[in-house]
Amino acid sequence: MAELKDVKGIGPKSLSLLNKIGIYTIDDLLTHYPFRYDFLERNDLQKVEDGEKIIIDGKVESVPILMRFKAGLNKMNFRLVTQSGVVGVSIFNRAFLKSQLSVGTGITVIGKLDKNKNVITASDIKMDLLSNSMKIEPVYHCTSGLTNKNMSTYINMALLMYGKDAIDNIPEEYINKYNFLNKKTSLNIIHNPSTMDKLKDVTIRLKYEELFEFMFKINYLKQLNKKKNNGLERVIDRDKLRQFIDKIPFTLTGDQVKAIEEILHDLEAPHRMNRLLQGDVGSGKTVVAFTGMYANYLSGYQSALMAPTEILAMQHYNNLVEFLKGTKIKIALLTGSTPKKEKNDIYKGLKEGTVHMIIGTHALIQDEVEYQNLGLVITDEQHRFGVHQRANLQNKGITPDVLYMSATPIPRTYALTIFGDMDVSTIKERPKGRQKIDTFVKKTTEIKDVLAMMYDELKAGHQIYVIAPLIEESENSDLTTVNELKDQMKLAFKDLYKIDIVHGKMASGAKDIIMEQFKKNEVQILISTTVVEVGVDVPNATTMVIFDADRFGLSTLHQLRGRVGRGSSKSKCILISDSDTERLKIMEKEDDGFVISEEDFKLRGHGDLFGTKQSGDMSFKIASIKNDYKILLQARKDSKEYLLDKSTDHDPLKERLIHSISMKES
Ligand code: ADP
Ligand code: MG
Repeated sequence: MAELKDVKGIGPKSLSLLNKIGIYTIDDLLTHYPFRYDFLERNDLQKVEDGEKIIIDGKVESVPILMRFKAGLNKMNFRLVTQSGVVGVSIFNRAFLKSQLSVGTGITVIGKLDKNKNVITASDIKMDLLSNSMKIEPVYHCTSGLTNKNMSTYINMALLMYGKDAIDNIPEEYINKYNFLNKKTSLNIIHNPSTMDKLKDVTIRLKYEELFEFMFKINYLKQLNKKKNNGLERVIDRDKLRQFIDKIPFTLTGDQVKAIEEILHDLEAPHRMNRLLQGDVGSGKTVVAFTGMYANYLSGYQSALMAPTEILAMQHYNNLVEFLKGTKIKIALLTGSTPKKEKNDIYKGLKEGTVHMIIGTHALIQDEVEYQNLGLVITDEQHRFGVHQRANLQNKGITPDVLYMSATPIPRTYALTIFGDMDVSTIKERPKGRQKIDTFVKKTTEIKDVLAMMYDELKAGHQIYVIAPLIEESENSDLTTVNELKDQMKLAFKDLYKIDIVHGKMASGAKDIIMEQFKKNEVQILISTTVVEVGVDVPNATTMVIFDADRFGLSTLHQLRGRVGRGSSKSKCILISDSDTERLKIMEKEDDGFVISEEDFKLRGHGDLFGTKQSGDMSFKIASIKNDYKILLQARKDSKEYLLDKSTDHDPLKERLIHSISMKES
């Protein structure tokens, strides 16, 4: 097979530059699509200012004069007649164009105009004078040493040499149905568009192809998982489980019951569970997960619950111990700060099967941890774990069932793609008696009002979270810092209330101590960066104040707001910002995390929803999940049809698509 270095013009130096930006194969090069296009409108000689860029059509009026310099450099001068006058053109290192530039030839010149000398120093000369007044120029991601021009040259050379081999990854049926151009022509047009209409057509075609392939693979994986019967054989004593659920001190919501039922069904089914449990903060996912763990225990297996922070792991541990009070289940907590001796005991217990349930942080997936029969793995706030870590944990057991919990409601589009190979349980219904959190957007000039509101809450014996985006002052930023805020609050509330700080750069031990004090109401105002974002439960905290709120995505704000409103008292959230208030006002009206995440998604894309690692998992070359939703839905429907159509099972395309999945898996 031809390699990148076989493309004429690509030498060792350009090869390494191309590699640097992730181009390793001819296919990578051909699908290195322009990230935008420049529309080169023709200029009038008289209207362009001195030193400005000019694009102009004309006819060669004088035979070009060629001058050669040292080191192979050369320069060519000629006169050009245009509709707006005659102008000199000089261009470097295009000696090879000389024979084509005979007098009378129509060309397009792109360059910079020197008004005094009446000369254009050209950066490019297009020999094919276009009839329309527009020229569309692709602009590529490049790197230093590799110009847009280089990129375009390499791509066009690759198209010339290997374009004919470009394979259509769309079944013929759909190519015909949608009247798509073939791959080769599409690639040619996307890199050299002559009109907007053509560009639009092939863009849709290439996006469709990319999404078709992607959705095909996802559907295939999902089908494969269901077919494989690679799950655990297990029997769950439903009577015992029922008795247990009856003892839960509140009535489960309909969505909770449904989610539990879906999980039980997966546990009992012969295929491995691969399920996402999503629900707004406070929707009650934990009790669903715990019930799953209990069912797993009843069927004779160990469970592991992994949380993103020690504080959360501890909280889950305490809750689980309480939840399973009166049973004989042995539960252990394993975190980075578990003493060595205790750790070893836990390892032993896990290996011998005397520990039935384990809760912890990343410590759970370290190599020395061995399980006797791990049957269920749950990760809380799963998007905070790297994909690799998740995979690692799955490898610990034989093929344990896996449940991912997420409090960031995922917009439908994303659920379809990033979690496309998972089943999804959604909790939308709130537990009874949950009150709406009153939300206010305030300007910094209204700080007195904010302090007054805070004072009222403190007098009522409640606690407050204060959030600020940065820890230390940095020169180029006047963002409120936590230290500054502490001083401000001290000034406002004197010594009446205890104020403290937690932030991301603190050692986790020190952080835990302060969090613990806040839980016990020994600290009334907790100032922090976003570390409290993840799941802590302090029902007496009724107010959330967020400075520089415009710095956060709506989903993050919603998560932060979910920290309050956990007890029976009415809670408040105050967003302080002088800009972007239109967006923030969505928070005043809306308290449905799903609606908010859709809004956020529309406004900011997925950047705010997942860590960068994860967004990298689904980087598309041309399609965008955000903007191409309609194409995605169509491609999803078609690819499913194609997958299920037995008559195409031996199509080279189908075999190729399936093969490319197993290549990646191994
Ligand atoms: P999250 O989905 O954010 O993890 P939790 O599971 O922590 O939410 O639940 C939040 C609080 O609501 C907990 O104190 C929990 O005990 C309580 N809770 C959960 N389900 C119900 C219910 N059906 N009725 C009343 N309270 C509930
Ligand atoms: Mg939770």
